Amino acid sequence: MIYNEEFETMPREVIKALQAKRLQQVLERVYHTVGFYKKSFDAAKVKPDDIKSIADIKKLPFTTRKNLGDNYPFGLFAVPMNSVVRLHASSGTSGRSAVFGYTKRDIETWSDLIARSLVAAGITKNDVIHNAFGYGLFTGGLGLHYGAEKIDASVIPMSGGDAKRQLMILQDFGPTVICSTPSHALHLAEVGKSIGIDVKTLKLRVGIFGAEPWNNAIRDEIEKVFGITALDLFGLSEVIGPGMAMECLEGRNGMHIYEDHFVVETINPQTGEVLPEGEEGELVFTTLTKEANPLIRYRSGDISRLITEPCRCGRTHVKMERVLKRSDDMLIIRGVNVFPSQIEAILVDIEGLEPNYQVVVDKVGALDTLDLQVEVNDKIFSDSGSIKELQKIEQRIVKDMRDYLGISARVKLVQPNTLKKSDAKIIDKRRI
Ligand code: ADP
Ligand code: ZN
Repeated sequence: MIYNEEFETMPREVIKALQAKRLQQVLERVYHTVGFYKKSFDAAKVKPDDIKSIADIKKLPFTTRKNLGDNYPFGLFAVPMNSVVRLHASSGTSGRSAVFGYTKRDIETWSDLIARSLVAAGITKNDVIHNAFGYGLFTGGLGLHYGAEKIDASVIPMSGGDAKRQLMILQDFGPTVICSTPSHALHLAEVGKSIGIDVKTLKLRVGIFGAEPWNNAIRDEIEKVFGITALDLFGLSEVIGPGMAMECLEGRNGMHIYEDHFVVETINPQTGEVLPEGEEGELVFTTLTKEANPLIRYRSGDISRLITEPCRCGRTHVKMERVLKRSDDMLIIRGVNVFPSQIEAILVDIEGLEPNYQVVVDKVGALDTLDLQVEVNDKIFSDSGSIKELQKIEQRIVKDMRDYLGISARVKLVQPNTLKKSDAKIIDKRRI
């Protein structure tokens, strides 16, 4: 089934023409309404008028995560706040976080994209959806929620968290669909096993998974333990949220990117050079229809490859391969994105610490863990005969990591000069 037959199966030339027209409109708009874009286009000596076709897009400068931070909170908005009906945000201390605004029409668009994605997975109004993506400032929860309502399915707004309660709801409400991170699903299966619930006996038939990298081995495992079909959903909050691309039931080798709403390019992350379609590189997205905060050539940091061969499902939109790598140092821990610089920003704010730290990310069962070692400075070390003082600092770090980044960390303070400067600051032991 295809939710929006007209747009999802457009001939390629028609898509390209539609993209070109929409691109010109959005460029014109951002140039005149967002100071940042006017400045960056002017600096690159390019005017919206110079962009006549999609091929011209490479004349435009990139937008980066840093640009979002520098314009925190609302500097990239293209409409006044009274046209904004929703705000989402990424985690981080102010200036390292980013805020995303949506007009009423943006919410409509986004819901439509999620509706397309759910329908691509064979989901209908007869389904009951257990939505375990996080509600709140994260885009996952509410994003999926609105799309599910759009196709008249029944939604359980579960959000993340307590596995035993989730299992109870899964047993008692009998949902047929689960949406979550892949690791959350595997964690549910493990906890279920430990308390005598075999998740295979649940009514679930389809799972929509995303927000973190996963591969076909993980898919096989989820499908086997739950007895469901597992599909990949992709998106990033900066661009709109989940629902930018979705795997179809028929293809199962990559996710269709909704090209009537986004232009996607692949670039060499080192040089910024645009790569031929089909080569592996960093994905760069331009929003074509977003009103509140349009993004032009946004560097996602996600490494993938575009698949242009026609798909059996009839959709004509280009597909992207699973995202398994990043071009930057962003970590995804239990579905939450975090940059080492955000951890550093928390540490420098706490008195008594040296900027020397080491993060070890690992997996225990299905769940990610983060261990943080930080050096205390000489002063704290020598005059803190009091262990209490050190414990207080430790607790403060744990709390700030949770409050600002939404991440639970195990923290250990160590003596000055314990960590070698040459040691890696981040060690990711997980293998995907
Ligand atoms: P989400 O809640 O969808 O994860 P965020 O904006 O918090 O949205 O994170 C976006 C990032 O998450 C992407 O840039 C990508 O690195 C990762 N991500 C999202 N979906 C997937 C997916 N299906 N596979 C791999 N990585 C994904
Ligand atoms: Zn397809």
